[in-house]
Amino acid sequence: MTPNKEDYLKMIFELGGDTALISNKQIVAGLSVSAASVSEMITKLVEQQYVTHTPYQGIKLTASGQRRAASLVRNHRLWEVFLANDLGYPVDNVHAEAEMLEHATTAEMAERMAKFLGNPKYCPHGGVIPDEDGHYLDQSRVTLSTVPVGAKGHIERIVDEASLIDYVFGLGLHIEDHFEVLAKEDKTITIRQRETGKDLAVDAVRAEHIFVEL
Ligand SMILES: [Zn+2]
Repeated sequence: MTPNKEDYLKMIFELGGDTALISNKQIVAGLSVSAASVSEMITKLVEQQYVTHTPYQGIKLTASGQRRAASLVRNHRLWEVFLANDLGYPVDNVHAEAEMLEHATTAEMAERMAKFLGNPKYCPHGGVIPDEDGHYLDQSRVTLSTVPVGAKGHIERIVDEASLIDYVFGLGLHIEDHFEVLAKEDKTITIRQRETGKDLAVDAVRAEHIFVEL
């Protein structure tokens, strides 16, 4: 499936493009698409005034892009919470269902769902859920890829993207798990998971989309 405009806005938001400049490369890796597709879509998003693009510096959401992204992220994550908490879906499976449902969600439905769920602040992947006015708690901007050897922390959130979620949960790594970085090589980062005592080899590119708290 080719990611659409809304998927790009959500990805830019998750990568921290609400407050900082992010690169094409980060979007390429996050959405598993070609650099050419990203450039093409960014041009469209600039025309529609959802993002600004400063050559050689990066991409950032405009105020209107941020509002749009926050509302999409909100719809997506409210569904994830509902599916996991109330319909008994395994956390690994909620993303794909939410991906379809978010596009059919009106503001009123999101509002009623938020109330029903007790206004949750986080999705099952640790991502923030913006409120109806588009406000949200600050999200971690430190990626596992930048953590030095010997440092300890816990996993705070992973980018809401299907192949990444499968990859991380497939490793046996979950939100809130504690780790220590044991070694860093070109292609892998080895961490020890405190909960299991296991050593896990995490792909270095994937580690750019895993956010941590130290
Ligand atoms: Zn999520």
